Amino acid sequence: MPISDNLNPHSDAHLNGPLFQNAVTSLREAGKLINCDPNIMERLQRPRRCITVSIPVRMDDQSVKVFTGYRVQYNATLGPYKGGIRYHQNVDLPEVVGLAALMTFKNSVLGLPLGGAKGGVCVDPTRLSRAEKQALTRRYTSEISQFVGPTKDIPAPDVGTDPQTMAWFMDTYSQEQGGFAQPGVVTGKPVEIGGSLGRNHATGLGVVYVCERAMEMLGMKMAGARIVIQGFGNVGSFAAKFASDRGARIIAVSDVHGGYFNGDGLDVAELNEYVKIHKSLKDYPKAQKITNDQLLELECEALLPCALEGQIDVHNAEKIKCKIIVEGANGPVTMAATKILDKRGIFIAPDVIANGGGVIVSYFEWVQDIMSFFWDEADIDNKLKGVILKAFDTVYKFKQEKQVDMRMAAMACSIQRLERAMLLRGLYPR
Ligand code: NAD
Repeated sequence: MPISDNLNPHSDAHLNGPLFQNAVTSLREAGKLINCDPNIMERLQRPRRCITVSIPVRMDDQSVKVFTGYRVQYNATLGPYKGGIRYHQNVDLPEVVGLAALMTFKNSVLGLPLGGAKGGVCVDPTRLSRAEKQALTRRYTSEISQFVGPTKDIPAPDVGTDPQTMAWFMDTYSQEQGGFAQPGVVTGKPVEIGGSLGRNHATGLGVVYVCERAMEMLGMKMAGARIVIQGFGNVGSFAAKFASDRGARIIAVSDVHGGYFNGDGLDVAELNEYVKIHKSLKDYPKAQKITNDQLLELECEALLPCALEGQIDVHNAEKIKCKIIVEGANGPVTMAATKILDKRGIFIAPDVIANGGGVIVSYFEWVQDIMSFFWDEADIDNKLKGVILKAFDTVYKFKQEKQVDMRMAAMACSIQRLERAMLLRGLYPR
């Protein structure tokens, strides 16, 4: 479906990716719901700027390879652009446009003073040596450096990039600004060079804050609740820890090798210790082995999908037996499954809020860098709670008033905030 009449099917092909088309579809639906100004809708369906760069890198064998990189700056009405940088062999411009649009809607619904962007390089990072990855990062930074900066656009890690990548990005940008440290140009940095305490566990902790609030709304309690978690990486393992700290019973977890079930509750500290030693949950002895499909269909109070997109779709939506789903991963429940689950009375806390902990603490990192004054971890966890629950409560109130599902309510609240700000700022020159 074309997003606008005045699109050129060739030169505007970057607007035809499935991710972006999906975002536009739900944007339009939410736009109708809030009666959004048609001029604002027209503007919100296009990115502001798409930057494509060629990145020549001298490889370890002395040959020069040229990679393609992108930075899409979608919307900066609410503040500087913000969004991660992905290194993956499937990265292309349509995907980055879709991800940049989603960052715009996410930052808006979370109430952050930030716009939305995303970057990426089409490369398999697992095939690069450390030196090659550093060279690629520094040249990519240099190619886009005039467009980024602490008041312009603040990247962060995503798939295939990590705190070390951000350190190289920050150093390159700083060298180009005369050599003075500019920590505010990226977030997700190591703590030693301006990173924030609490960033590592922020997404998992945010998932648990949201789960706890959803339970409260439904008259349930975290203490004693049975919780099932798909994915035991950064998000899933910290969600397990924080939920278990609050007295929940984690009855099943899984990773890429499959699931592990124990109706009496798993010992999360022991699971973490096991993963530290064995690098995965494979053959974890104190549980019954189940498949990932079986795990999703377990009877429980809350299901936290924290691994991949598209895990709950029309094929298994009727078989899900939890009361609440908190989307730790991005897009783990499809749009069609959302409708089925909503009809069945299963409450879904959508990804834009539920996994917002990461970008919220990234925002705190940027604020701390600008102030050159750093908060302690308890302070950060507490501030995270305030921001994420405020967003949740706003969206929940909208859902109750309009009788729509939480995903639609989140999108509507997001564009409502963007609409107000865009109307106030007006069109330049007019
Ligand atoms: P990660 O790589 O640390 O962990 C992913 C986990 O999922 C691993 O345990 C992996 O084994 C497991 N997994 C992979 N394939 C699986 C499968 N088929 N079935 C079950 N488990 C499988 O990644 P992460 O940082 O924890 O991110 C997880 C999800 O959360 C992603 O969708 C990511 O985009 C999203 N997310 C992460 C953050 C963050 O701050 N880390 C923030 C927002 C959203």
